[in-house]
Amino acid sequence: MNKEALEGRRIEISSRRVSGVSWRLFGTLIIFVSLVLTVIWLFQIALLNSFYENSKLDGFNDTNDMISVCLDDSEELKKTVIARSLDTDSCIRVFRIDNKIAVEVADSDVRYGCFLHHLSSDALLQLYEKAEENGGVFIRKLSNPNVESNSLNSIHVEVMQGGDGYKYVVMQDSELIPLQATVDTLERQFGWIMCILIMGAFALSLSLSRLICTPMERMSRSAKRLAKGDYGAHFEGGGYREAEELADALNYAAEELQKNDSLQKELVANISHDLRTPLTMIKGYSEVMRDIPEENTPENVQIIIDEAERLTELVNDMLDLSKIRAGTRKPELEMFDLTESVRAVLGRYEKFTESQSYVVLFEGGENVSVMADRTMILQVVYNLVNNALNYTGEDKTVRITQSVKNGKVRISVTDSGEGIAKEDIPYIWDRYYKVDKVHKRAVVGTGLGLSIVKGILESHGATYGVESVVGEGSTFYFELDVVYDGDFEPKKR
Ligand code: ADP
Repeated sequence: MNKEALEGRRIEISSRRVSGVSWRLFGTLIIFVSLVLTVIWLFQIALLNSFYENSKLDGFNDTNDMISVCLDDSEELKKTVIARSLDTDSCIRVFRIDNKIAVEVADSDVRYGCFLHHLSSDALLQLYEKAEENGGVFIRKLSNPNVESNSLNSIHVEVMQGGDGYKYVVMQDSELIPLQATVDTLERQFGWIMCILIMGAFALSLSLSRLICTPMERMSRSAKRLAKGDYGAHFEGGGYREAEELADALNYAAEELQKNDSLQKELVANISHDLRTPLTMIKGYSEVMRDIPEENTPENVQIIIDEAERLTELVNDMLDLSKIRAGTRKPELEMFDLTESVRAVLGRYEKFTESQSYVVLFEGGENVSVMADRTMILQVVYNLVNNALNYTGEDKTVRITQSVKNGKVRISVTDSGEGIAKEDIPYIWDRYYKVDKVHKRAVVGTGLGLSIVKGILESHGATYGVESVVGEGSTFYFELDVVYDGDFEPKKR
């Protein structure tokens, strides 16, 4: 797939996702609103009649309970009947049965279209008898064509025993279907509720999707700039915590990308510079020697040899570093006398230090052994001592100290040079990092020394570091576990 196609695909996917969030939110809210509306419709409209009927029937029972306790007190009975009749919007008649003759003892007629007050004495008696047959309670539902097309009345008859020995019959008549006006009001209200909820869902999904999507769209724009190599792209969250966290993470990633990019550029520049310098020298001197026979001197040949050696050294360092970083060069652990090995390394500097009047001091103390890769550790010592010699001050002195504490041996290499500024210290272990940015390769190391040191010591799990005071000098150190003969089993790393 070519670049344009990929770019197009990415944009297509991203826009699909953004619209997805808004529509998904809207869809979810609409589903929720529909659920709410269904519940409201179910209770307020579809099941209204049965709810109404049940509550009316409950009202009949409550009225009967109230009446049953005041059957002996005719005044109280009349008051209760009127009060309940008004409360429940029903007509009530109470009869006392005396020798099969029904004598009305309380009555309340509050409803238009009531059957109870239009029934003949025989019909009333029939209702009473039905109730008696039925265990004391009888309910008859009747529709009244004169009142409303869907009107339904219920006559509730209950026989109860009075304290005075007589039987009483309580008859109630009430409408079982809510008034059409109430139904109309509820339906109209339902319409309004539906409109308000749908509009609310739309507004809510719009504002929520804006809240979620706006920072995402902003960040995606910045990400596209970053993808094109614009490291000035800044990610802004805003709105909510997750977006802020994402923006912080992306800003961090952008910073790291920028650092990596400039490091890589610097690395390529340095490597090519470092390879080119000795090659130019070799080429230059060889040409001079070819063209001018008198220049064919041992000194010039030596320069060519020296430069070739530097080139070899540089290539070897690069290879070492890449092997350490790739993890292909693993430490081969062996137990060896660190003190003696360091002393041997320093011995090799003797000729150089004598001729250049450098002073290399070693304060060793007791001999200690460690379990490590000897070659690698000695390379660390070399690199640190080389640097110290390169950077030491006027007194041309380098001090190597060995100290043992808490089962660890520390090798410190101290010089009296210019020291390293605090802000540079974290970076000197990076490849090709130079404090002064002046290319001193012709005089000093390959620029890879400390990164090799770092790689080796980290592969050993060793502690290392530098203490430096600007103007006074630096002390590079590393620490390894001391091992004693007989009490050590080689560690596997
Ligand atoms: P090189 O010494 O070849 O530049 P290194 O990786 O060995 O590369 O060191 C990295 C940088 O750390 C050096 O360029 C120098 O700025 C700083 N540095 C290393 N050792 C010392 C030291 N002993 N004193 C002062 N600066 C040092």
